[in-house]
Amino acid sequence: MIKLYNTLTRKKEVFVPEKDNTVRMYSCGPTVYSYAHIGNFRAYIFMDTLRQVLKYNGYKIDGVMNITDVGHLTSDGDTGEDKMEKASKKENKTPIEIAEFYAKQFFVDLKKLNIETPEHVVKATDHINDIIEFVKGLVENGMAYEVNGNVYFDVLKLQSYGRLSGINLEDLKAGARIAVNKEKKSPYDFALWIKAPENHIMKWQSPWGLGYPGWHIECSTMGRKYLGDTFDIHTGGVDHIPVHHENELAQSEGLTGKLQARFWMHVEFLQVDGGKMSKSLGNCYLIDELEKRGYSALDYRYFCLNGHYRKKLNFTFEALDSSKTARQRLLQLIFAHKNGKEPCDEEKLQEFKNQFVDSINDDLNIPYALGVLWTMLKEMPNSKKVYELALDMDRVFGLSLELCEPEEKQSDIPAEVLELVQNRIDAKLKKDYKLADELRAKIEELGFVVIDKRDGYEIKKL
Ligand code: AMP
Ligand code: ZN
Repeated sequence: MIKLYNTLTRKKEVFVPEKDNTVRMYSCGPTVYSYAHIGNFRAYIFMDTLRQVLKYNGYKIDGVMNITDVGHLTSDGDTGEDKMEKASKKENKTPIEIAEFYAKQFFVDLKKLNIETPEHVVKATDHINDIIEFVKGLVENGMAYEVNGNVYFDVLKLQSYGRLSGINLEDLKAGARIAVNKEKKSPYDFALWIKAPENHIMKWQSPWGLGYPGWHIECSTMGRKYLGDTFDIHTGGVDHIPVHHENELAQSEGLTGKLQARFWMHVEFLQVDGGKMSKSLGNCYLIDELEKRGYSALDYRYFCLNGHYRKKLNFTFEALDSSKTARQRLLQLIFAHKNGKEPCDEEKLQEFKNQFVDSINDDLNIPYALGVLWTMLKEMPNSKKVYELALDMDRVFGLSLELCEPEEKQSDIPAEVLELVQNRIDAKLKKDYKLADELRAKIEELGFVVIDKRDGYEIKKL
């Protein structure tokens, strides 16, 4: 039995797909105006983990991920510039060139992180006619209205508006969080179609003149086109709850009268050094940069798996060091089992498997499931059966544990040293510097030295 936390109902619910054995799932994808950073990838690692847990349970997935290449403005309140147009002017390239370049890089990183590409990857600009039809439907049934070439969704027409984020229109009115736009009947109405300004590059002919679609409408349109009026799961980051997903839900219900998705799942934010990631702080790290500093993309995946998706996760290079060492140690342990010939207690093995399944099915408790893997590898005698179960679990973790052999050969650092190094990192994270120094001394006794660096560490033979 799988239980998933549903933002819409604010509780964990038993999940079963609505139709046959296939889970229909929509994941909000990247806006391809720039490189995706490690925070964005936390969201896609979550998406992938969810997919793998569902597959592990025997379900098929029909997944859609959109590529936003038009309509995502720099502000959520229908003001500001289209991010793609802005990047295109800055880099002196066409929006298509910008989109192609960053989308390509995005998929390179997905691959490095072992994130499976969803079954349908769809671009907003390939669906402009579908979007226009969707908006036309909303205008025709009175849920939307046009003013000067802009089309807005009439929020007051939908009784249930605000149900995802738990706000009601009365609170919204009191809060007045959105800048006043005289065209809107209510300040909380949002744009479905936007009139193109004079020099706008991306624009299409529509019943309301030359313009381009808003950001939210693309997801409602493509979700419906590929998955139907109601699908099983919708995913994204927590930042999507109050505006993007609230508005998607409203538009879809406005047109079809049906609930767009039964389960809404949101991943909490990745922070860096306890604070926000931001370009101005220079801490929007890319996968590429982690690699240049000597980490593998899978060290980052391992790091993400150690935090529950509904909790904030704090990225530091010390924590990434800890993940890197832990992953190496994990590979060594698995390698030992691969060639193990000791007899294995099948019942005990089954117990580990049950614990693993219970934890992944309990709203994706992956940190606990990883703990089960570690305990199994450490407690069980070296046996091929243990190795096989570890690989079976790795269908969910996605850590390429089958590649344990080459990594083992590359590394001539003994497991004992790696363990001490990891304990030392953990001690430093807990600010127990006395213990950290003692561990350093032990490492040196074994003939190795740890050299602390600004962005990590190095282990050398003495
Ligand atoms: P964007 O390309 O800005 O639309 O974002 C792509 C995805 O990354 C969305 O699902 C966001 O919610 C998510 N996201 C953005 N920043 C972070 C972060 N710091 N931590 C986790 N997810 C994030
Ligand atoms: Zn979306």
